[in-house]
Amino acid sequence: MKELLTLNIRYKYFSLIPRDLIGNQCGESESSSIIKIEVDTSSSFYDDILKADLFVRDKLKDDLFWWWKYKRIYSAIELSNARLFKMSVRKFYEPCGKDCGTVYDYSNLCDICKSGERQVSPLYTRKGNYLNNRDVASTIGNEIVVSKRFVEFVKNNLLHGFTFGPVYVGKRLSADIFQLMIQGCELDFSEKSVFGVKPFDYSEKYKRVSEPFIEEVYKCPKGDNLGANLLSEAYVKDCDNIDKYDFFISRQTIGFYRGLINQRHVLFCSPRMRKLIIDNKIRGFDFEIAHVV
Ligand SMILES: [Zn+2]
Repeated sequence: MKELLTLNIRYKYFSLIPRDLIGNQCGESESSSIIKIEVDTSSSFYDDILKADLFVRDKLKDDLFWWWKYKRIYSAIELSNARLFKMSVRKFYEPCGKDCGTVYDYSNLCDICKSGERQVSPLYTRKGNYLNNRDVASTIGNEIVVSKRFVEFVKNNLLHGFTFGPVYVGKRLSADIFQLMIQGCELDFSEKSVFGVKPFDYSEKYKRVSEPFIEEVYKCPKGDNLGANLLSEAYVKDCDNIDKYDFFISRQTIGFYRGLINQRHVLFCSPRMRKLIIDNKIRGFDFEIAHVV
C-alpha cells in the first residue's frame, strides 16, 4: 500500500516545506493563499512536514495547513486478498433532511458527545438534482440517497445486508431516489485504528495532549464516538458475520456534533460488492481496504 497525504499548506508557512515538494505544487486556491502538496507518508519528506506542523502548532500556536486528504493505493494482490472494504460516499449536498421535515428522536443522545440521534420518519427533501448522474450522494447530515438503479443492482445481485427507505420530495413519494438506511450488521473498530482531528495528531514521536473540548467531544469517554476523523486505514474486529453480509456499518461513530452536522457510522462492504460496483459502473463510492484483525 502506498499512502499519499495531500495538504493545503497555508502560503505564509510555505518556506517551512521542503523544496522538493514545492516542485509537486498542483494548485493554488482562488485567493492564492494556499499551496497544495502531496507527500508520500513513507518518505523522509513526511517527517519534515511533521516537524514543520509541530513547530507551527507549538511555537506559533497556529495551523500549518487547512484541508487534507489521504489517498491509499493498493497493489492488485492486496486488493484480491482483502476480506473487507471501507466504503465512502464521494459527494455531499444540502439541504439536510432535518431542514426539510425529516423527524429525529433525540431522547437517547449521549450526554457527553451528543451521538445517538435516530431518524424516525421517512427522509424528506426538496426538489433538486442531488445525485447528478451519480448513484449515491449524502446530505451533510449523513442521510444517504441512492438511485433506483442502485436499489435494483442490490436486488439483482442478491447483495445482503441492505435496507432502503422511501424519500419524499416535498410531499410526493419519489420513484427515482431512495434512502440507504444506516442499519444492518455492525462491526467494531479495533484499537489499531487511529482517530484524530487531523494528520500528525497521532504521531507517537511527537505526541501531544489534546485540548479538552467543552461543547464538542471528539473522543467520547463512553466509547460511542471515537474521534473527529479516522486517520489510519480501518481495522475492525473479526466476527462470523463478515463473511455472511455484503454491507456493514461501524458500531461506533466518528465526527462531531455541530448543528446539522453530526457523527456518522463508517460503511463497509464485501469484496464481492466492491467488484460488482466497479463492474457495473455504479457511480459515487470510493473504497479502501479495511483490515480484519
Ligand atoms: Zn458519547
